[in-house]
Amino acid sequence: MPWKGEKDPYKIWLSEIILQQTRVEQGLEYFLRFVEKYPDIQSFAAAKEKDLMKMWEGLGYYSRCRNMIAAAQQVMLHFNGLFPNNLQDIRTLKGVGPYTAAAIASFAYGLPYAVVDGNVKRVLARFYGVKQPVDAPAGALRIEKLADKSLKQKAPGAYNQAIMDFGATVCKPKLPLCETCPLHKQCYAWQHNLVLTLPLKIKKLQRRDRWFYFLILHWQHKVYVMERRKKDIWQGLHEFYLIETAEARELDELIANEIPELLKTNFTVIEVSDRFRQQLTHQNIFASFIQLRLKAKFSWEEGEWIPLDQLQKIAFPGVINSFINSNLTKANTRKFNCKAKNGK
Ligand code: SF4
Repeated sequence: MPWKGEKDPYKIWLSEIILQQTRVEQGLEYFLRFVEKYPDIQSFAAAKEKDLMKMWEGLGYYSRCRNMIAAAQQVMLHFNGLFPNNLQDIRTLKGVGPYTAAAIASFAYGLPYAVVDGNVKRVLARFYGVKQPVDAPAGALRIEKLADKSLKQKAPGAYNQAIMDFGATVCKPKLPLCETCPLHKQCYAWQHNLVLTLPLKIKKLQRRDRWFYFLILHWQHKVYVMERRKKDIWQGLHEFYLIETAEARELDELIANEIPELLKTNFTVIEVSDRFRQQLTHQNIFASFIQLRLKAKFSWEEGEWIPLDQLQKIAFPGVINSFINSNLTKANTRKFNCKAKNGK
């Protein structure tokens, strides 16, 4: 991977933030694109927010991108445009937590700070036999101490990279390679048949279901698009007019009752989509798209009319992009126009 052995703190920061919650294969593509267009912190800080959000599109967890924009401004304002070179200052950057700060400090500057990510927790919990849940305060503290104790002071960057790689390729969550593992003679979990039991966790992931009904309002060759401004998932991205409900609703009922009440203008229904699903860490999003052709133009304060062929330039959440890519292609647009002409 291009970030292995990297010493430029900007590129390390970029790769670490991209790789939070993102698979390496997917993150690599984004990393290369960002580095090509914005090769240093100065060019990143000078970029327009909407361009950065558009480049981030598809990676999810958009607060990461917003935090990076804020952090780049901090570097320009408070550190004379130079990435900070000590842990305390690095930690002040927006969106940089203990793990990312330790990674930047050790990889870029060779400072002796241990990184503790999911791979490291698993290796340490198994090797030392940590029986407290690693997501509870006592277990987390024990892991932190073991991480500091295990850190090789003379080569902290190489050690941090090595233990993370070891967790990703040998001491894997489901099928660890214990038989051939060079540590198995000293490994507590292997010696006590606890490999698949450790690490322990208390939190079981609970996902909330949310039901989104997007109204795609067509007027002439445009659709109505709004920015998501509320503090919620996808803040800063765009969407179509959204009706959110606490449970699944009958589309016929929405179309007959709530939508006329909301729009207060005549419309025809062009098409109703199948249900799309997007799974986030803590939420399941079930999205339906109702395409309506309005008889008269109107506007709300928050949105604007965008030509259909300009939609690809706007940053949308993944579930909306899936719908656009499969349903709002040029061929389908022509189909809608025909339908509208025929008065259906
Ligand atoms: S023996 Fe198995 S559990 Fe222990 S460190 Fe090696 S791979 Fe991990």
